[in-house]
Amino acid sequence: MSGGTRAGFVSLVGAGPGDPGLITVGGAARLAEADVIVYDRLANPRLLALARPGAELIDVGKTPERHTLSQDAINALLVEQARAGRRVVRLKGGDPFVFGRGGEEAEALVAEGLPFEVLPGVTSAVAAPAYAGIPVTHRGLASSFAIITGHEDPAKDDSSIDWAKLATGVDTLVFLMGTGRLAEIARRLIDNGRAPATPAAVIEWGTLARQRTAIGTLATIDVAVRDAGIAPPAVTVVGEVVRLRERLRWFDTRPLFGKRVLVTRTRQQASDLSRALAARGADPVELPAIEILPNADPAQLAAAIDGLKTSAYGWCVFTSANAVGTFLAHLRDAGLDARAFGRTQIAAIGPGTAEALARAGLRADLVPERFVAEGLLDGFRARVMRGQRVLLPHAEGAREALTDGLAAMGAQVDELTLYVSAVPRDPDVEGLRRLRAGEIDIATFASSSSVRNLVEMLDGDITPLRPLLIAAIGPVTAQAVRDAGLEAVVVAETYTIDGLVDALVAHAGTRA
Ligand code: SAH
Repeated sequence: MSGGTRAGFVSLVGAGPGDPGLITVGGAARLAEADVIVYDRLANPRLLALARPGAELIDVGKTPERHTLSQDAINALLVEQARAGRRVVRLKGGDPFVFGRGGEEAEALVAEGLPFEVLPGVTSAVAAPAYAGIPVTHRGLASSFAIITGHEDPAKDDSSIDWAKLATGVDTLVFLMGTGRLAEIARRLIDNGRAPATPAAVIEWGTLARQRTAIGTLATIDVAVRDAGIAPPAVTVVGEVVRLRERLRWFDTRPLFGKRVLVTRTRQQASDLSRALAARGADPVELPAIEILPNADPAQLAAAIDGLKTSAYGWCVFTSANAVGTFLAHLRDAGLDARAFGRTQIAAIGPGTAEALARAGLRADLVPERFVAEGLLDGFRARVMRGQRVLLPHAEGAREALTDGLAAMGAQVDELTLYVSAVPRDPDVEGLRRLRAGEIDIATFASSSSVRNLVEMLDGDITPLRPLLIAAIGPVTAQAVRDAGLEAVVVAETYTIDGLVDALVAHAGTRA
């Protein structure tokens, strides 16, 4: 879009309650288009990854104690940014119009004649109970619910909340911002006729891996919350529906629930593992320990491509998805596509590599049963390799086992160095901080180089890794962990990302 004279526009976007999967499709699209994103504490910072590169991110982060910017200042900021012709996203936790002061921000824009829209969000008032296994309505138990601010002092006489009607007039009561006044809220409800034995729940950091829930009754809930040390942000639910949690609990019972798991793959490859971990309840913390830097020698590369085109190779062997991606990119640069492989057969070390090939329309002729170099060699042993020319595109410093084994079978192996898997030049500062601060429970490694590189990123000091449960994708990676002076207690039986996650789940099961 052209800049300059175009009118600014503000989208008031609900970020949802915390789980980044709970933003709306429309909200995600607005984030990707925004010139500037104005966000606060309760909007998950991970959503900011949806911003386009170069978008300006402004934290007006509100904590209960410290308002970084006053509401007036936030309103003025939105007006100023929109006037400057920018596409503004105001990202707010939950729903913008549920105790979000989104209405006030909209009023400020209207007063200045500036255009805006509202993208509603999933409110924590419904989502936090849902993730605790508590439906806010339920046939036969609750036909109505109310969302109430707990911020107001229930003791003050001119309270705008009609406690007498609320206490018995609504089945399920959901209080936001009420953790600090729980005792008074409960007393008000009891004084106005709600039974002291009414079940109540307080859910802290709902929908996130750090979610915690305290259960009690109106008479006991404030003590339960104090004992558990529960603090804001938290949602309080009062009503018979709380009993359903016993049967409907689903989120905080997941096998890896609450575990903070370090993901050390490249930024591009991390998301598969992160998603699989999150689906088991874990909190994935991405700290890429690998960056792929292409470093092919042009003459070597040209010779390899020429060999492919002239069908000189009987086999081309890929030992990583990165090798597939890098090699195919070189083919594209040379004006070629998958047809360049012609009659050359293709081997992949495992399903991840085979999948990378499949994405380019290439089917691997050989995927071994064991996803290591030795497994590939077993596969080749069943074939006639004597006199065959084999192209082996791989990373700098790759293991020699494959080359040596193939040579021993009488094959002629052309190694082609494509890339070096280097320590990231720009390490993830937040991930490193959390690791050093002891905020990680489990570390996962999907390659030997990720182990070595992470140790290097820690300046050789493995102290932060010692207390962690370490999981390795296979025996070669486990050996690299041992070489680093640590132990991989969990080693995948199937050397894939799914196998790694399964092994962690199985390990959690044995300790439950
Ligand atoms: N607009 C937001 C509410 C803002 S008021 C929404 O629709 O959810 C802030 C209050 O919301 C907090 O004090 C807390 O009561 C609640 N809250 C927000 N996120 C929460 C979460 N993940 N878990 C529990 N409570 C949350």
